[in-house]
Amino acid sequence: MNPSVLSPKSVSGPLAIPLVLLLTLSVSGCATLGIGGINLISIEDEWEMGRQFEAELAEELPLVNDPVVNEYVNEIGRLLVSQTEMADLEWRFHVVEDPQVNAFNVPGGLVYVYTGLIQEAGSAAELVGVMGHEVGHGVARHGTERLSQQYGLALLASAVLGEEPGFIRQIVAEIVAFGAIASFSRAQEFEADEIGVELMPGAGYHPQGIVELLERLLDLREREPGTVERFFATHPDVSDRIDRVEERISGLDGLGGLQMNDQQFRAVQDRVR
Ligand SMILES: [Zn+2]
Repeated sequence: MNPSVLSPKSVSGPLAIPLVLLLTLSVSGCATLGIGGINLISIEDEWEMGRQFEAELAEELPLVNDPVVNEYVNEIGRLLVSQTEMADLEWRFHVVEDPQVNAFNVPGGLVYVYTGLIQEAGSAAELVGVMGHEVGHGVARHGTERLSQQYGLALLASAVLGEEPGFIRQIVAEIVAFGAIASFSRAQEFEADEIGVELMPGAGYHPQGIVELLERLLDLREREPGTVERFFATHPDVSDRIDRVEERISGLDGLGGLQMNDQQFRAVQDRVR
């Protein structure tokens, strides 16, 4: 099969499903279909590519070295990820020294949280809410769905093998410029929220944190638009998201004992200030 037949155009419309079934030629022989469309990258290859993204991002982003901050964020990440089917894979959570209120997921189990988000969050649950959303993008594999849609199989296959440093650098440059790997579809954003809402109780935090953080972002857009510019560029539909998250939460039982805050959050906030 010529890889060019796998370009996004050829897999749209009624042909999509049969073509998926024929896709034995993907990077590691397993194409999947998510809500963002076909995913040509296997999980193993995604984690392989993630190592390259992580190394490159470490060069490009000012990462926080404070062990208290990093351990706190990694522990929250671990609590969230441990409930997913990707718990056995190695995830890593990094903190970026940047006053913007933002966070993003990169394929291969990587989540980057900005110090601006930690500073502005009104409670631990607000931070956990954003992290749950980003873990949601990762678990649903939205990043590799996006890459599969935008780039052909041949390019992705050689990128996994480390043969396309220029491609990796280009994606990293986009991440650095836009504060996200790509802007995801509304459906992908809603799905990431839903996963976040589902994971928060298991981590011990009330999912209302997501609602409170989104409301805070709308408020910040009025008062200090500069701090949330990147977030809104890649995350429109915030009001719709609030409504849907609230609806989702109202359908959940057993939220009574969940915390909005924890002992360490303020200390972590002080350390990034
Ligand atoms: Zn998102």
